[in-house]
Amino acid sequence: MASVELRDLRKEYDRGTIVAVDDLDMEINDGEFITVVGPSGCGKTTTLRMVAGLERPTSGSIVIGDEDVTDLHAKNRDIAMVFQNYALYPHKTVKANMEFGLRMSTDLSAEERNEKVQWAAEMMGIEELLEDKPDELSGGQKQRVALGRAIVRDPEVFLFDEPLSNLDAKLRKTMRTEVQRLQDELGVTSIYVTHDQEEAMTMGDRILILRDGKKQQVGKPEEVYNDPINEFVGGFIGSPSMNFVDVVVEQTDSGMVLVGVDEDFRYHLSPDVVDRFGVLESGGEYVMGIRPEDVFPAEGTERDTVTAVVEVVEPIGSDNYVYLDLSGELDTGMSAERVEESDFIARTDASFAPETGQEVEVVFSDEDVHLFDPATGSSVL
Ligand code: ATP
Repeated sequence: MASVELRDLRKEYDRGTIVAVDDLDMEINDGEFITVVGPSGCGKTTTLRMVAGLERPTSGSIVIGDEDVTDLHAKNRDIAMVFQNYALYPHKTVKANMEFGLRMSTDLSAEERNEKVQWAAEMMGIEELLEDKPDELSGGQKQRVALGRAIVRDPEVFLFDEPLSNLDAKLRKTMRTEVQRLQDELGVTSIYVTHDQEEAMTMGDRILILRDGKKQQVGKPEEVYNDPINEFVGGFIGSPSMNFVDVVVEQTDSGMVLVGVDEDFRYHLSPDVVDRFGVLESGGEYVMGIRPEDVFPAEGTERDTVTAVVEVVEPIGSDNYVYLDLSGELDTGMSAERVEESDFIARTDASFAPETGQEVEVVFSDEDVHLFDPATGSSVL
């Protein structure tokens, strides 16, 4: 096991016209499981390939344990990588696939290699498959073999590049648990790339969120969820996405009011949460962010509410997604795309099931209201 440190790591392509990874700094602790997430093209794979030694950084360095490995060849780094497409040798048996890395990188005897392969096969529950060839296996079995091949080498660091993306949703969930179990049992420092924020949130001890090659935020799942550093992270983490509304702050005698710029919207923040925002300039413009799960039907409340018109109610089982229009005008004949773009969603209990076109009153859980600077996107907290 070992820590991994990325120091000002940079990768440019096409003579600097493409910056895939932009001066990335990051420390990953010994035994930690880090997930790396961000939209397509944000530099996740390039980062991982540089750690693996498959791509040479333009500048910066990579330190594993106390060794600078930046100039070390991939095969001399004590790392195992698991890929989305499994990368198994099609003509070799499962056993030979698992043994291959051991043959290349160690001078173990045949018996010792055999023992290690048996151990890894047991860990992955694939003892029965050892004599099979990859094309006789299902996607899930192939990925188990690929994981088995990674653990058999007993590396210091595991790198995962979207290893579960080719599996169906149900199998993906099972395999997530498997990967976590492995990581728990072996305690190997792991970097796991995914474009799926839910996967990143459920699996990572900490999450690194990238955008355009730049680090946006690193933190525990609850930190990036509760305290997103900017509007991008707020919108990227969580599903359905955080609602954003342009507001102007009005300081009144009775406290702070957020007034919608485009919507018919006035919201009094309770005095006890106003302190959290410090002194905000009256007339100042912000982007308010509130998560769908922090919007509630305003039944029986004494306080100011927000009036909205229901566009669509989408049941998802225990909860409903209620698409709301805060402008007060019902957009009838709304297309599916319009629903996708719909400005404002409340995730409510399934018992709250208003009709399309119905006017409803909602409130927010005040301590979960976020304010972002419209120019920079930074959180003002
Ligand atoms: P995805 O989720 O789609 O796999 P990613 O976050 O892994 O994306 P990268 O594959 O690391 O992103 O790519 C980062 C950027 O670098 C992209 O703009 C990509 O087009 C560019 N890029 C990656 N590899 C090369 C290359 N060999 N030559 C030129 N540009 C490249």
